[in-house]
Amino acid sequence: MNAAKTGNSHQLGQLQRVAIAPAQLLPGEILLDRFQQHYLRRVLRLKEGDRFIAMDGQGQWWLAQLSGYPEFATILESIPVQNELPVSITLILALPKNGWDEVVRQTTELGVTTLVPVLSDRTVLKPSPNKLDRWRRIATEAAEQSERQIVPTILDVATFRDYLALREKPANRYICVTRTDAPHLLKQALASQQSPAGLQLGPVEIAIGPEGGWTPGEEEQAIASGFQPVSLGSRILRAVTAPAVALSLIAAALEMNPTPNQSVSP
Ligand code: SAH
Repeated sequence: MNAAKTGNSHQLGQLQRVAIAPAQLLPGEILLDRFQQHYLRRVLRLKEGDRFIAMDGQGQWWLAQLSGYPEFATILESIPVQNELPVSITLILALPKNGWDEVVRQTTELGVTTLVPVLSDRTVLKPSPNKLDRWRRIATEAAEQSERQIVPTILDVATFRDYLALREKPANRYICVTRTDAPHLLKQALASQQSPAGLQLGPVEIAIGPEGGWTPGEEEQAIASGFQPVSLGSRILRAVTAPAVALSLIAAALEMNPTPNQSVSP
């Protein structure tokens, strides 16, 4: 990277981040849409020559500069960043009646990779496609705010049982359950990082139930699909609080224990 052009990371931290779609990326240039032009030039009052960071939502950042043409920004250079957790985290959430906007925002800030809204035996209200668009917008804004390299993917709504039947089975699958003597998530997550199997760190999936909790049948099916039942502590959390707690614990377990890639042996 050319340090003279970019300046130090402190200066980079002050630049506005703008998420762009792959189709907006041209050779050496970014084609800005109407909203981005308005935001950069009118709201932020940036002018020709002023810089911002463009992120493609798939891990790549560029330092960009507004050009003389309102619809174009010049790409100055790509910026190497590593802000993501070392493995992908999929959060499977039975749709709570309210509060999804906050769940999307918070779990994006905390590092989620994929959000799977599911209908469970005790939630049958299917959200409108508008809601999904709205959640995807919220995830994009939160990813910009938290300097994420990727924008989390929000899958279309499926039933929990279909999801279990269709998906492949990653090694680290957890289902959060209340009122049992299931081991604590932090203990399980740390154990999986420390065990010899943890050396092949794989994706993590975690499932959280609706306000009424999972039904026994769902828990059984999940366990048969390789989910380990886990606790988030002795208090019952609201369906919209539990995701932030689960994500924080997993992120802590992953970030406290360097992965094989991160640990450098002398
Ligand atoms: N009504 C249920 C609680 C539902 S809380 C009851 O009284 O038991 C909604 C979801 O959040 C639960 O299905 C579970 O997945 C998760 N959750 C909340 N608190 C939890 C805890 N202490 N441990 C594990 N999971 C919890």
